[in-house]
Amino acid sequence: MTEQSPALDNLLTESRTFPPSAEFAGQANAKADLYATADADREQFWAGQAERLSWDTKWSQVLDWTNAPFAKWFVGGKLNVAYNCVDRHVESGHGDQVAIHWVGEPGDTRDITYAQLKDEVSKAANALSSLGVVAGDVVAIQLQMVPEAIFAMLACARIGALHSVVFGGFSPTALRARVDDAAAKIVITSDGQYRRGKAAPMKANVDEALQGAETVQKVIVVKRTGSDLEGETPWTEGRDLWWHELVDGQSAEHQPEAFDSEHPLFILYTSGTTGKPKGILHTSGGYLTQTAYTHNVVFDHKPGEDVYWCTADIGWITGHSYIVYGPLANRVTQVVYEGTPNTPHEGRHWEIIQKYKVSIYYTAPTLIRTFMKWGEDIPAKYDLSSLRVLGSVGEPINPEAWIWYREKIGANKTPVVDTWWQTETGSIMISPLPGVTSAKPGSAQRALPGISAKVVDDTGTEVPHGGGGYLVLDKPWPSMLRGVWGDDERFRDTYWSRFSEQGYYFAGDGAKYDDDGDIWLLGRVDDVMNVSGHRISTTEVESALVSHPTVAEAAVVGATDPTTGQGIVAFVILRGNAGDGGDAAVQELRNHVAKEIGPIAKPRQIMVVAELPKTRSGKIMRRLLRDVAENRQIGDVTTLADSSVMDLISSGLNSGK
Ligand code: ATP
Ligand code: MG
Repeated sequence: MTEQSPALDNLLTESRTFPPSAEFAGQANAKADLYATADADREQFWAGQAERLSWDTKWSQVLDWTNAPFAKWFVGGKLNVAYNCVDRHVESGHGDQVAIHWVGEPGDTRDITYAQLKDEVSKAANALSSLGVVAGDVVAIQLQMVPEAIFAMLACARIGALHSVVFGGFSPTALRARVDDAAAKIVITSDGQYRRGKAAPMKANVDEALQGAETVQKVIVVKRTGSDLEGETPWTEGRDLWWHELVDGQSAEHQPEAFDSEHPLFILYTSGTTGKPKGILHTSGGYLTQTAYTHNVVFDHKPGEDVYWCTADIGWITGHSYIVYGPLANRVTQVVYEGTPNTPHEGRHWEIIQKYKVSIYYTAPTLIRTFMKWGEDIPAKYDLSSLRVLGSVGEPINPEAWIWYREKIGANKTPVVDTWWQTETGSIMISPLPGVTSAKPGSAQRALPGISAKVVDDTGTEVPHGGGGYLVLDKPWPSMLRGVWGDDERFRDTYWSRFSEQGYYFAGDGAKYDDDGDIWLLGRVDDVMNVSGHRISTTEVESALVSHPTVAEAAVVGATDPTTGQGIVAFVILRGNAGDGGDAAVQELRNHVAKEIGPIAKPRQIMVVAELPKTRSGKIMRRLLRDVAENRQIGDVTTLADSSVMDLISSGLNSGK
């Protein structure tokens, strides 16, 4: 037998811990015994969680895994997802509670109560039905963060149609690919969107996308920017309808129909960090159960008391699970903000938190690092004392960013929950429980009660504490993907073939256990670097760089190297006041990494850059930086937020800077 080398070297150590205060722990929704309860009988545990929902017909079996990897949860159960997110709160006497504090980028606002939400969703459901949309049809939604986006999603759920939400900033090509892939019958969009203080056309792009798209029968257009746009909204008579003309006059009465627990709820494409996006399919009962459960225990949400704000875009899974489904099922009062965080000024988020007394705030590491770059004096100007839980999602959060978040935003007292999950998992899988876990900055720590995750080596054997390898999910979970739309083979290949013998779900992420057995996410397996036989994670080197006071953001890649196999090339963005980034500064950073995690991880080259290539959901696209570092033609950039970033970086590199 050949000896297995560790799948990942374990370099960075971080020993700070932050237990919850006794006060927080005492009032928390989830207590420590939840782990044991779930372990004692997982199916029984999930059956209990499903009781959070209102079912028209109760299920007869919790889980059917006989046709793995195609799961069925709450078999035989029937429910209406929109009824669970809206109507039942009105029926229980909370019609006057604000569901959504909507904030437009230009400063206009709209408060929507549950009673109003019920009317809007019912009207939109009637409108879709009037156009012939029936259960099983696909409706594509390309909208910015306006309330109609939420009405439209819930209206689809109400009538059993699947939505496929496409990020508002995506190009006509990206929209068309998604419309065609799912054979969408209806597209819902807006005339234009506000972006960084300016109105930009949206409908014109949709028209370009839909040229010759045969499946699309109607296009519904929300009027948002109106006369702010130059020129008229392009219009196709017979196909295009204004939302307000179609929807506003509909009846606000709509009888929700109960659908099977496994009825498809939506398709959503992954963000494309590692390659061509995949159309992920989610269904109803299990998805809503786990999003509601996780929103309750991870954020410690108290209906009617908390004001919650998840800053994600509706175009990503975080927007689906933690703006729409989980929170609304839990009768949230939440902020929905239309615009960018620096319009009209860099304190916009803090101003909104102050105004609405936001108590739970959930955002992404990329934004936290941006806030760090802008400077701590900006949040310091606002009253953030309402905050009691902070969350992070999307990428590994570097320990320094975590500490900054807790200190500068959370007054050095709020729990910070680092939540690991994916479009495919549907809900949070690995995360601290804010009232239980002694938090470790940079670690997502432990699978939630009811969830099972492991770090394994190449052979699928669990690695010992202190070891690194691949993250797998070794037991099915309620909100798991039910497939890749129209491509069962890709579903099996991508997620289930790597550890088919064990039947594990392969997440595609590297991870390690620390000595306590807590899980640390180490970035994409595709991004792992191999330097002189050492398998080094991008995350660890990036975190070492970010721990230097001059560095705001860092991205690290392995570039082919004649002597070491791969050499580490780092791209860094300096903080506002950090000086010129000349040779001495670069040398200092190289030495800093060597000191923090060891000489093997010392970058061969460090480039100071102004921007990093990111997906529209804010994740760093290392594969493009690898192309630059290896002087290759740059790969697929269709999900990049700003494609000019790559030209900037390449030209900087060629000029030797
Ligand atoms: P694609 O699969 O098309 O490349 P993507 O993986 O970026 O796209 P998402 O499903 O939005 O699309 O992202 C999930 C990934 O985000 C995870 O696999 C992981 O790499 C990363 N991630 C999310 N949250 C965390 C977290 N808290 N810590 C570390 N990594 C995280
Ligand atoms: Mg992925």
